[in-house]
Amino acid sequence: MTVRIDNFSAGPAVLPVTVLEQARENLLSLGDSGIGILEHSHRGKAFLSVYEETVSRCRKLAGIPDNYHILFLQGGASTQFFMVPMNFLQSAQTADYLVTGSWAKKAVVEAKRFGNVFIACSSEAENFCEIPDERVASDSPVYTHFTSNNTISGTQFLCEPDTPNGGFLVCDASSDIFSRPIDVTKYGIIYAGSQKNLAPSGVTLVIIRKELVERGAAELPTRLEYRTHAETDSMFNTPPTFGIYVMGLVFQWIIDQGGLQAMENRNREKAETLYRFLDESDRFNATAKPNSRSMMNVTFASGDDEFDAKFIAAAKKAGFDGLKGHRSVGGMRASIYNAFPSAGVDRLVEFMREFESTQS
Ligand code: PMP
Repeated sequence: MTVRIDNFSAGPAVLPVTVLEQARENLLSLGDSGIGILEHSHRGKAFLSVYEETVSRCRKLAGIPDNYHILFLQGGASTQFFMVPMNFLQSAQTADYLVTGSWAKKAVVEAKRFGNVFIACSSEAENFCEIPDERVASDSPVYTHFTSNNTISGTQFLCEPDTPNGGFLVCDASSDIFSRPIDVTKYGIIYAGSQKNLAPSGVTLVIIRKELVERGAAELPTRLEYRTHAETDSMFNTPPTFGIYVMGLVFQWIIDQGGLQAMENRNREKAETLYRFLDESDRFNATAKPNSRSMMNVTFASGDDEFDAKFIAAAKKAGFDGLKGHRSVGGMRASIYNAFPSAGVDRLVEFMREFESTQS
């Protein structure tokens, strides 16, 4: 029998067991096609129906209207850091960026290659431990970019930021996409790397308003224009077929769980269990400010590096993997995405309580 342990990895991350089982079943033959899912041509009927199913489940799941394209791109969320400004930001124009973490900072670096960047807020001086309440806006930004969940520092926006001076909203939702209901109509572009809440790594989901696709730059290398991917149903070149397939299974899994509201309820409960313990603990402290805490990545530390290292080693031995904080911040991080089971959170809390009581 296969033994699975509690995997708190920030990404690639845990996937629903039923999804893995379905994928395994279709590895040698997708349905009764006699050809495995990894081996089907992306131009064939069998894969085209997988693609169409993934798109339609995505629309159903998040209530995505017809005036948005759903694209499956490559190059990770990091490629969107430059594709967005490359397509929409001209050298004399300005885009506003909310700098709430290291990934947002990386997005800023890329945007500056194309136009002006206005920093609408930054929590860098506080080690990104909060989502700042106070934000400013430039006079007429082309767009406002934010990172809905900050994977490394463990903070999350409660709702979309305002865009008082116009411009469309762009969101890097890599680490919390579909973890709660979303009103897609508030956004121009939502992008997310797949390896946390969606699928194995290798696909980037991009949800983009059709009118923007038409408006985007038209002299870029073909592959770097959104238009190209919209016009070819994400098949300008060979798409990441397996990732698209698994994403479709994950969408169906979320629908079967009761949809995005049910996901949020479950995610909230899991996160609250952990934060409640951390707030009561004598040794462990949550590192994100209470009003900015992420439901996806719970970051914590004891303030004593030696204690943290001892805890991480003991946890690993006890079957809790991936708890080491990001190398840039240290401490611990429990990533508890959609597919992470509640029972695993309960087990971790139990283990931490026990560990704490045995340390003087
Ligand atoms: N944005 C966020 C919020 C992330 O967490 C990550 C990856 N951890 C990235 C962007 C970069 O994603 P990718 O590796 O897909 O380029």
